[in-house]
Amino acid sequence: MNEIQVNDKSFVPFLSAASIQHGVKELATAINSDYKGKKVVFVAILNGAFMFASDLMKEIDLDCEITFVKVSSYKGSASTGRVDELIGLNKNLSGAHVIILEDIVDTGITMDKIHKLIELQYPESLKICTLLYKKEAHQGKAIPDYVAFEIENKFVVGYGLDYDEAGRNLKEIYQIKE
Ligand code: 5GP
Repeated sequence: MNEIQVNDKSFVPFLSAASIQHGVKELATAINSDYKGKKVVFVAILNGAFMFASDLMKEIDLDCEITFVKVSSYKGSASTGRVDELIGLNKNLSGAHVIILEDIVDTGITMDKIHKLIELQYPESLKICTLLYKKEAHQGKAIPDYVAFEIENKFVVGYGLDYDEAGRNLKEIYQIKE
């Protein structure tokens, strides 16, 4: 892996394709064991988690389904303030064993919103699986249950993660050069 340019910034190698695949396999092994005999509904968060979700699903040997959602936040009325919504969730998650798939949890603000919205549907169980976790930056309530890599608080790109929409196609992950 070499230093690369994405838009106007330079990035240095951080996680090779092989180490990402290794991390993804470890997550799948843990999930396969924890949910043995159960049916799982994976809820993957677009856009960033598309590549992670795809690779993880290939390693899951449970009875399972996957659905992809986007988080949207819009200005509601004076009484409601900002309203968060999960777009694309056309499945009733009541009574289901749900695992949220996210590419990265940073401050945790986004994950808290997603977690709260899914809880409203009364799933039987609800867990969070993330490829990357910036633990030191985290201020949220919902703590990830399955983490492939805890990383420092620096901007990363690749493997689904973008810098201004570029870089999602990279099969490795790069860190911003400082
Ligand atoms: P939060 O701070 O709410 O946990 O993260 C919000 C969103 O910011 C994440 O879902 C992700 O899309 C984006 N994000 C956070 N850290 C990074 C990063 O290092 N690289 C990229 N590409 N996106 C990030």
